[in-house]
Amino acid sequence: MANPSNRRFLLFGRALLCGAALSCSGLTFVRAAEGQAPSASQPQNQTMTPGFPVASDARLAGDAKLTRFVLDLDKTIQFRAFALDDPYRVVIDIPQVSFRLPPGSGTNGRGLVKAFRYGMVMPGGSRMVFDLTGPARIANATVLDAANDQPPRLVLELEEVDRTTFLQALRANSRPELKPAVSDSMAAAPPQPAPKPAAPLDSRPVVVIDPGHGGVDNGTRSGEEMEKNLVLAFGLALRDRLEKSGKYRVVMTRNDDTFIPLDDRVKVAHSQSAALFVSIHADYLPRGEGEAQGATIYTLSDKASDAEAERLADSENRADAIGGVDLREEPTEVADILIDLAQRETRTFSNRFARLLMGEMKGSVRMHKNPLKSAGFRVLKAPDVPSVLVELGYVSNKSDLEHLVSESWRSKTVASIGQAIDVFLAKRLATAGAAR
Ligand code: ZN
Repeated sequence: MANPSNRRFLLFGRALLCGAALSCSGLTFVRAAEGQAPSASQPQNQTMTPGFPVASDARLAGDAKLTRFVLDLDKTIQFRAFALDDPYRVVIDIPQVSFRLPPGSGTNGRGLVKAFRYGMVMPGGSRMVFDLTGPARIANATVLDAANDQPPRLVLELEEVDRTTFLQALRANSRPELKPAVSDSMAAAPPQPAPKPAAPLDSRPVVVIDPGHGGVDNGTRSGEEMEKNLVLAFGLALRDRLEKSGKYRVVMTRNDDTFIPLDDRVKVAHSQSAALFVSIHADYLPRGEGEAQGATIYTLSDKASDAEAERLADSENRADAIGGVDLREEPTEVADILIDLAQRETRTFSNRFARLLMGEMKGSVRMHKNPLKSAGFRVLKAPDVPSVLVELGYVSNKSDLEHLVSESWRSKTVASIGQAIDVFLAKRLATAGAAR
């Protein structure tokens, strides 16, 4: 399926709060969506899906120095809030919410807020975007439990700052910084039960390694050698290399012979706010279609870079059909557009990593004659996580297969991928270190 239509992959399993921070971590890449949201006049997720939290009212108070926004809910939710510049905006990402706000909500601003928009941006996720009259910092952002006849509510407080302060805060907060979902400071709020102390958070960048296929889905094969086993062995070796450095938290989408639907792989990347997603595969070229060899690095594109890329994306995307997973309903057109916007920015990062990776790999590994390609791989579609898919080689090619099963080839290749990851994430690590 080399088309952009299968767009339902994100659940805010672990939405983050970046409360008092202006920009929030992990959001370096989410900036992507750059505050796009459906306009308030568009249909707002009117379907009454049971289970989604309901937002029943929204109001603004305060003035141009300090503005408070309150969203009434029927249950508490997790969220993350961050600011964007040019134009000045604040974005709140929340799990999918049923917006039942009074008509016209958001059209009239107050204080620092010119207007706000809201809506579902992807299945499982909603977003509110506040257009600001000028630079402001998020002085407070919190979700409060019901208390004193008030329903659960999300409160956002914005404080006027100058542009320099705004930009400094934006830059300073680009490092990963996870915060618990409920802030413990809200001066003007009624007394709240003390939040549970958060577990110590691991602020290292998360790298997700995704060995393709697994379980009932063998992937390609040549004789006894099955893709699912080759790529698992490779993925585990890469994990060990990255963990040894101590710089990253490594998450495997699978570490045994289990079938994982493609969308779940994407969800892992998103829910972990991953800094990078690397999917590992091996290719197979059917007899009669010529001889191909070497490693290829794929990034996401709606348009396949060539026929082979398209064929491959089709076959890799077929994994879910093999696993017997039903495709859920398509999201709205609005969600599609927003996800496109998010992906556009993420793709820049993905392409940067792909080029770095090629530079490192070509020194030690035989590459395909056109080693950088793109196609509509579903597993690469996390809008906010730079993602690449590496086809290590062709099991249909004798010498590639010899490499794929060779321990020394594997460690050489793992070393080059590890090096590319080090370079790609070096800036992020440096920022995190300096801020400590
Ligand atoms: Zn594969």
